Amino acid sequence: MKSDDIKEIKCSEALKLIAAYVDRQSEENDARTLEKHLETCKHCFDRVEFEKLFRERMKGLKLDISSMNLTAKARKMLEDL
Ligand SMILES: [Zn+2]
Repeated sequence: MKSDDIKEIKCSEALKLIAAYVDRQSEENDARTLEKHLETCKHCFDRVEFEKLFRERMKGLKLDISSMNLTAKARKMLEDL
């Protein structure tokens, strides 16, 4: 596929694609479309970085929660994040 074939999308459309993209569940076309948008849109790029960090952190928390000897209050706080 040539890059010319990738359609331009608005931020509102990009936002809908970001969750699946970060979870690596995107269709090939959606991923390309979003990546093209990210090249020109700092706002959405930051959003993707945030979503990635957030997911990494949640993964880390799950491991930590099961292995740490937390008080019930601390555990509740982490689970509510
Ligand atoms: Zn955007």
